[in-house]
Amino acid sequence: MKGIGAFSLLLSTLFFFSCQSTQRVLQAPVPAAPLADKPHNVVLLIGDGMGLTQISAAMYSNNNQLFLEQFPVVGLHKSYANDELITDSAAGATAFACGVKTYNGAIGLAADGTPCKTIVEESEANGLATGLVVTSTIVHATPAAFVAHAKMRELYEEIAADILDTEVDLLIGGGKQYFDRREEDSRNLVDELRRRNYQVQSYDQADINGFKWDPTRNLVYFTADKQPLPVSAGRDYLAFATRQSLHYLEKRSEKGFFLMVEGSQIDWMGHANDGKAAVKEVLDFDRTVQVVLQYARERGNTLVIVTADHETGGMAIMPGSKMNKLEFEFTTNGHTATLIPVFAYGPGAELFAGIYENTAINQKIRQALGFSGASAAVKLSAGK
Ligand code: MG
Ligand code: ZN
Repeated sequence: MKGIGAFSLLLSTLFFFSCQSTQRVLQAPVPAAPLADKPHNVVLLIGDGMGLTQISAAMYSNNNQLFLEQFPVVGLHKSYANDELITDSAAGATAFACGVKTYNGAIGLAADGTPCKTIVEESEANGLATGLVVTSTIVHATPAAFVAHAKMRELYEEIAADILDTEVDLLIGGGKQYFDRREEDSRNLVDELRRRNYQVQSYDQADINGFKWDPTRNLVYFTADKQPLPVSAGRDYLAFATRQSLHYLEKRSEKGFFLMVEGSQIDWMGHANDGKAAVKEVLDFDRTVQVVLQYARERGNTLVIVTADHETGGMAIMPGSKMNKLEFEFTTNGHTATLIPVFAYGPGAELFAGIYENTAINQKIRQALGFSGASAAVKLSAGK
């Protein structure tokens, strides 16, 4: 009898702890540090093409849990472009980067074609360290709009050359070929970066967790020649690279940092109307969100914003779906105009409650960081 009593005690103790640990996943794993009055660092995480259905689908495919649920502030943004109700990723990212509505395809340009100063450029001018970590090429529309100015998103080589005109500290993503095997000119941008004392590494030379990140130098790590693989084919660097980036960037400047992280391929699975693959991409992105959230909780000085540029696929969770066994339908293989959720944590997070334009995200970040002037008024000088 004694044995059975001890066994049932053991069982109930195990049950208690397993419930506790599930609880801990959903609640704060460590007590959060008190929040500063103003953010020292800002991390903007963009799930390209991640609408409410993509988020719901990932949650209901993952035992009804996402790390995204831990955010205390939720808002909605209106994603439309300057000239079209349905935005593309270039106009969507330019709205975040510059605070202006522009035409579809524009990279870091206002609707009239004028280059606009991006939040990365403005952060650099204010002495912050900056970085971009993505699962597309680094010259793809979303990251490009933060560090380049081009009339069309497809001008990948021009965008790559533009990046060398910025002082961005850290770039992680695919697209090495646009730097070292260019077709439009004979420049080798990898050599140029190295001559400027950048640490340049790539997937074919060193595994991302197999080299020493040197915080005394700017860093570029190419994760692929072209597009990185999807999660379903084994890509798994986003969370790790993001964690390393946070620790790298905090050593780069005493004034703080701005980091943009993109789960780029949620959008592509929407275009392919592949709901299961979209779920995998959202879960990979959500794990990355957790890395940033944990960092922000420990510090208390980091504003974290998670959003998307637009929804992709007009995705729906269909009748007949069950928890962990969902059925999807799509209304388009393009983007849609539905309102997009915004999640925020940290000093300044309260600014992100409510319903507002996608351009307001730029204004709210600038307001939180104490950058002066209206964002639309911040223009670059001609020729930049
Ligand atoms: Mg993108
Ligand atoms: Zn798309």
